Amino acid sequence: MKSSSKLFQRAQLHIPGGVNSPVRAFRAVHSTPRFIAKGKGAHVWDVEGNRYLDFVMSWGPLILGHADPQVVQAVTRQVRNGTSYGAPTEGEIRLAELIKSAFPSIDKVRLVSSGTEAIMSAVRLARGVTRRKKIIKCDGCYHGHVDSLLIQAGSGLATFGVPNSGGVPEELAELTISIPYNDAQALEGVLKKYGGDAACFLLEPIPANMGVILPKLGYLKEIRSLTKRYGVLLIFDEVISGFRAALGGAQELYGVQADLTCLGKVLGGGLPIGAFGGRGEIMDHLAPKGKVYQAGTLSGNPLATAAGIATLTRLRNRGFYRLLESKSDRLYSLWGSAIRKDSLRVTLNRVGSCFTIFFTPQAVTDYASAQRSDVKRYGRFFRRLLASGIYPAPSQFEANFVSAAHQRDDLEKAGEVILKVLRTV
Ligand SMILES: *Cc1c(COP(=O)(O)O)cnc(C)c1O
Repeated sequence: MKSSSKLFQRAQLHIPGGVNSPVRAFRAVHSTPRFIAKGKGAHVWDVEGNRYLDFVMSWGPLILGHADPQVVQAVTRQVRNGTSYGAPTEGEIRLAELIKSAFPSIDKVRLVSSGTEAIMSAVRLARGVTRRKKIIKCDGCYHGHVDSLLIQAGSGLATFGVPNSGGVPEELAELTISIPYNDAQALEGVLKKYGGDAACFLLEPIPANMGVILPKLGYLKEIRSLTKRYGVLLIFDEVISGFRAALGGAQELYGVQADLTCLGKVLGGGLPIGAFGGRGEIMDHLAPKGKVYQAGTLSGNPLATAAGIATLTRLRNRGFYRLLESKSDRLYSLWGSAIRKDSLRVTLNRVGSCFTIFFTPQAVTDYASAQRSDVKRYGRFFRRLLASGIYPAPSQFEANFVSAAHQRDDLEKAGEVILKVLRTV
């Protein structure tokens, strides 16, 4: 009989830490990973046959659920005709058209194979276009494992970064400035000082990698006008929020347009993909037209574009987001009233179908306030839920996702279990 714990032992002999991406190891919640055998709709099954209601959903991409029939059909149809050609295909154009119709700030878009690649390329493009070196980011935002962005801020308003990963040279970190999210004054401060040297201000407009955090009223509009004033390109990392918070991401939800937008996750419907795009005059600096080099053997991969087209086509159906959000809202209202009445000492942050329950009673608006969470309590919460057949994010500082495949009664039942566990941990 296969077991997750035996497989995890075996995996550790061959794969560093037993996983191909660190959070999968469940270390933050003092548990061991379940090895997944299959997924269907809102559920996954581990190799022992245990079923879980999934709120990780591959960390965001599966907005239609696991093995959605239309996505499966689109990929199956393509796979029979080959998996990669290293030559252009019509699918790339169709996906680009779908992206553009959701994001009016994008005239031209390039496809890559991951969110990390999209960010890395957008930053290089921003530097190439502006001929400036420094980049400004926000504490606690995650942009993939790009060297220059694995930077943590020290104390103070504008601190030059120190790398928080081994292997990132200090010389590189010195070019990255990290400031608190939701603090337009902090941005203004660094722009006054370094604005002439800064190529871009890069952030998740709705951060989801320190748990879900919402922009304060007017914040996104303020940073839009500040960056414009200093000629600094505004890059929105909408790898999570794109096609999730709304079809057109945070830009649609808050009525703000970025200079460059990075996408991934939902865009590929569960296949490896990323994209970055913006105005033509910026994007045309990319090779082969321009001087900023960017390339990829599997970029615009036919399987990924087929899955992406099938997914985005569904998201454009009238009422898709309204339905998804009304299901999610049931959960939030169930918890919301209990959180207010029963002093559960947690804070619920949510946007659309994406949420985090922070184990702190105080409002969570940035990295510093997120850090006040009781991660030990979160670990107990996680382990209790997993034992009850519910699979939430295996870290306090991640988002949970509801998909279109989550049924109302699954959510009702899970919502009650989650509430019960919240009352006891
Ligand atoms: C997941 C994520 C990335 C990185 O995408 P990968 O496909 O994992 O490389 C970048 N930015 C944000 C906001 C993300 O959530």
